[in-house]
Amino acid sequence: MHDQSLPEGLHPDTLAVRQATARSAWGEHSEALYLTSSFVQSDCASAAERFANAELGYTYTRTGNPTVASFEQRLAAMEGAQCAIATSTGMSAILLLALTVLKSGDHIVASQSMFGSTIKLLGSEMARFGIETTFVSQTDVAAWQAAIRPNTRLLFAETPTNPLTDLCDIAALADLAHAHGALLAVDNSFSSPVLQRPAQLGADLVVYSGTKLLDGQGRVMAGAVCGSRALVEKVMAPFMRCAGLNLSPFNAWVVLKGLETLALRVKAQSAAALELAAWLEQHPKVSRVYYPGLASHPQHELAMRQQGGLGGTVLAFDVAGQGAEQLRAHAFHVVDSTRLCSITANLGDVKTTITHPASTSHGRLSEEQRQAAGLGQGLIRISVGLEHLNDLKADLLRGLDTLP
Ligand SMILES: *Cc1c(COP(=O)(O)O)cnc(C)c1O
Repeated sequence: MHDQSLPEGLHPDTLAVRQATARSAWGEHSEALYLTSSFVQSDCASAAERFANAELGYTYTRTGNPTVASFEQRLAAMEGAQCAIATSTGMSAILLLALTVLKSGDHIVASQSMFGSTIKLLGSEMARFGIETTFVSQTDVAAWQAAIRPNTRLLFAETPTNPLTDLCDIAALADLAHAHGALLAVDNSFSSPVLQRPAQLGADLVVYSGTKLLDGQGRVMAGAVCGSRALVEKVMAPFMRCAGLNLSPFNAWVVLKGLETLALRVKAQSAAALELAAWLEQHPKVSRVYYPGLASHPQHELAMRQQGGLGGTVLAFDVAGQGAEQLRAHAFHVVDSTRLCSITANLGDVKTTITHPASTSHGRLSEEQRQAAGLGQGLIRISVGLEHLNDLKADLLRGLDTLP
């Protein structure tokens, strides 16, 4: 019989289409979708064995499912991590991480420019369980160092940030964490393992919102944490089995198939984003472009080193104007004049999305907080998809060329 097991030492691009749990007896070519809540046992003795040791076989989908395991194995292989554990959303991945590696009395140091729900979860929600978080500058390693206390157990970073594309130096933060007996976790949702593999740069845990680039076609919610066997299999998996933050097999199957085209999508979307960013930089009604792939980005050199020479799929720009009111009107005009781009907060999709962060994702901040974050009323964020660039440029020109 043909040996189905994969040879050693395969490239991540190969693992992205090949790594999965073994085929069933039917020999299906595309990975099977095991949409079942429980598994039938052949007799009492084997049921007893499996209930006592989840690694021996499947019993109930909350404690394990082959489709979910396929997604976990494929993502871990692409990340170059020992293990991955799948969760229902990106936020439940962060919750799982916090509830397993931390305990009451522990302290977190995290970037102040992270995803809004992450700031709320790690900041105010965790405080009720006696876990305190200090938020520091995204780019300043010295500020991270100064915030570390004897009880600091976790450094949590996200790079690049949304929407201003500021980077963290992952290797420097890993060294800092380890010098103080803490763990470094990196939210890699914005970059995917195609741009950067934080575990290879020293991060202990890598968190994903699979809802973004991993699915890539805006269909399902998903999340994951990647890391060592000691943390993921020994600490997180037992908690998961009773906590029920699971990814559904259907969503796992969708994201599993998304991983097969991830490298192609991320490379093509990053190339398009670079061209669009350079083109926007030349437009007289654009005052500033934020994109790590541009030489004008303050951390361009770090980005090229850390992100495999790619700038990523997300860019932002400021429209020209004077004062908050006019800037907001100008930004609204450019966004509302598009007919192709989707006005929606999701990102990492093959369909290009456009947003006005100051009135949506960052709308709850005070004007003062937004100013401090450098997030003005004239700012527009674009997550670049796979449409033809000429059509995207024409879509943006509809508004840019008709500004007063
Ligand atoms: C979307 C997002 C999350 C949250 O993921 P959900 O799947 O929406 O729960 C976390 N971090 C980053 C960077 C994100 O973009």
